[in-house]
Amino acid sequence: MLDKMDLHTHTIMSGHAYSTRNEMIKAAEEKGLEIYAITEHAPAMPGSCHNMYFMNYKALPRTYNNMTVLYGVELNILDYAGRVDLPKSLLKEMDLTLASIHVPCYVSGTMEENTNAYVEAMKNPYINIIAHPDDGRFPINYEMLVKAAKEYHVILEVNNASLAPGSFRGDPREQYKEMLQLCMDYEVPIVMNSDAHVEAQVGEHGFAQEVLDLAGFPEELVVNYHREILKEYINRGTLL
Ligand SMILES: [Zn+2]
Ligand SMILES: [Zn+2]
Repeated sequence: MLDKMDLHTHTIMSGHAYSTRNEMIKAAEEKGLEIYAITEHAPAMPGSCHNMYFMNYKALPRTYNNMTVLYGVELNILDYAGRVDLPKSLLKEMDLTLASIHVPCYVSGTMEENTNAYVEAMKNPYINIIAHPDDGRFPINYEMLVKAAKEYHVILEVNNASLAPGSFRGDPREQYKEMLQLCMDYEVPIVMNSDAHVEAQVGEHGFAQEVLDLAGFPEELVVNYHREILKEYINRGTLL
């Protein structure tokens, strides 16, 4: 089936990414994507955007030729209570939102504490996707993660950058094997995202696809193939 979307990318505004919005959008069009999202790092990430940047997304067009461009954020989960670094009043206005755990913004706890951080974050009604829940430095209980994703209506990500050689997060293939089996058992959808920090990475999902193929993961649970699934999960599904 056709991989139509990439929902996790960063522009130069994220502080440690290297291409402009126009360069990223052009790359997404060249890849033939139908839905492309820019999801800058939230303010707790050193060098990233101020709240005002996210508040003014309404200024940006959502259509480029045949492609829908969505604007959102990759939130930082800050603690074991699952707090994030932007208020709900701002999140609900964004097209889509991701939340993840990052080294400079979170101190790893026990498996129970880390799992709790994700589960509590997913209770936030405006968080749509958990990004890269694959980091061996932050061990979690995958069954609890997947069950919470089902209960709180959140998509789980298979992150291509995590799987690339030299990833900061180590090799997460074992974690994904376990997570994908549970997603099949509980029928929880996943999305393949590039997490591109430069235009050459936009739409690149080769490593993620390999992991799905190896798991025998069913196409009907892969959001990249189904615009109608995405529509049900994001804050502003009306844009699709
Ligand atoms: Zn991230
Ligand atoms: Zn990212």
